Parts: sequence; C-alpha cells; structure tokens
Amino acid sequence: MTPLVDSHCHLNFEPLNTGLDDVFQRARDNGVGHMLCVSVTLETFPEIRALAHGHPHVFASVGVHPNETEGREPAVDDLVILARDERVVAIGETGLDYYRSHGDMAWQQERFRCHIRSAKQSGKPLIIHTRESADDTLRIMREEGAADIGGVMHCFTESWETARAALDLNFFISFSGIVTFRNAEALRDVAKQVPDDRLLIETDAPYLAPVPFRGKTNEPSFVRYVAESIAGLRHTDIDTIASVTTRNFFTLFRNAVPAQDDRA
Ligand SMILES: [Zn+2]
Ligand SMILES: [Zn+2]
Repeated sequence: MTPLVDSHCHLNFEPLNTGLDDVFQRARDNGVGHMLCVSVTLETFPEIRALAHGHPHVFASVGVHPNETEGREPAVDDLVILARDERVVAIGETGLDYYRSHGDMAWQQERFRCHIRSAKQSGKPLIIHTRESADDTLRIMREEGAADIGGVMHCFTESWETARAALDLNFFISFSGIVTFRNAEALRDVAKQVPDDRLLIETDAPYLAPVPFRGKTNEPSFVRYVAESIAGLRHTDIDTIASVTTRNFFTLFRNAVPAQDDRA
C-alpha cells in the first residue's frame, strides 16, 4: 500500500511528546509514512522545528492558533523569517474560531490576515482552522487573496457550501477522525463529494481519536482509520485513498521532500 500521510498533528503536545519513539513505531507499523506537525504558538515553534529536523518523516508549520491568547502576537515578518526554514512547509494553523473565543473578534481576524499575508510572501501554503466562523473565514480569505497561495481547510466540519467555496479558492479539504463519529452524517456527505485531487486526511492528534478509539489519545497511526472510513464512503479501497491523499499532500506542500525510506 502507498504510505499514508497524517497532514495535521501536534506531536509536541502531551502525552504524545513523552513517547515519540513508540508513536513513530506504531505509525510505521500502520503504514504511515509522513506527518505534518502543526505550530500553535511562536514559543513552542522551536520544538516543532527540532522535531522536523530530527526526523525525515516529520514536517513543520509555523503559526499561531486563533484561540491562543497567552503567547507573542506574530507580525508578518516574524512568520516569513521563520518560514524560511527548509523543514517548514506551511503557514498555520491560523483561521477563526468563534466557538472557543468570544466577544470582539477583531484581534483574531487581524491575526488571520497576518498569516495570509505571510503565506503569500513566503510562498508556503496555509493551514486554516475554522469553527462557527465560516462566513468570516471565507470573506477574509477572499479579501486577502488567499487563493493566490492556497492551502488546506483542516479538520473540516462545515457544510458542503463552505467546502465548495473553499475549493473555488484553491483550497484542499482535510478530514479527521470526526468522519467516523456516529453523529457526523452530514460531514460524511461532504466527504463523499470532495474531488479526489483536493482530498487530505489527518488525525489532529492528540485530539479527536477516530472510532474505535474515540475518547482515547489520538496519534498519527490512527490516520488509517480515517482513510478506511473515507474509502468506505467513497466506495473505494484504502490503497486508493492512500495514494490519492499522499499525492495531494506533496502537491500542496510543495517544498516537503519525502524521506528516502518512506515509512516513518
Ligand atoms: Zn485546528
Ligand atoms: Zn491542530
């Protein structure tokens, strides 16, 4: 089988960070070749960069999560400079989240615009997080010309209309273990419709473990359950989903160089 890619995980978060050798071993045992470790603060970015430099199967992104309120606010130049690192393949995660943050969201929108401008300047695609904020997310993507650089709508949970609009803006759609949840019928409908050449899969580990591990610690090896679920929905096999999503990953994150040995 073509090795799978986990296009979005947080290997530096507890409890994954204390057992990474085992996490990588189980990824390898389950046919996972590469993973993208996604940044949420500038303060923890050095950990992610070190992981990506220490492991040829791990890539990094740089960015500040929309719900992050403790750390340093990034300027365009900060992100552009950090994104020059050869192991950094994307800007994010960024976006809007009105579920976990409340009140005047101007600061969150300004941070999102900063990331889009950084992505355009650095030539590296965006990883976008959106929750209960689809209209504003799409509006800002249009206003800032995010289509010029493209990227991925990660851990997608929105409607087909939102997916369609993101596809029209040159974005890929990434599905997580949520597609395996019993109450996710509407999302499964969306996952059936995304064109082959825009489909990605992820774990968002350590969160959102797929069925049959729901409620447990998620890890990159579980991306195969996401792949299996999506294969079933699309009436194909996991090998097809693996080859499609792995090809898409290296198409989107164009400066991600596959490891010589393509198993983690
Ligand atoms: Zn996210
Ligand atoms: Zn994330």
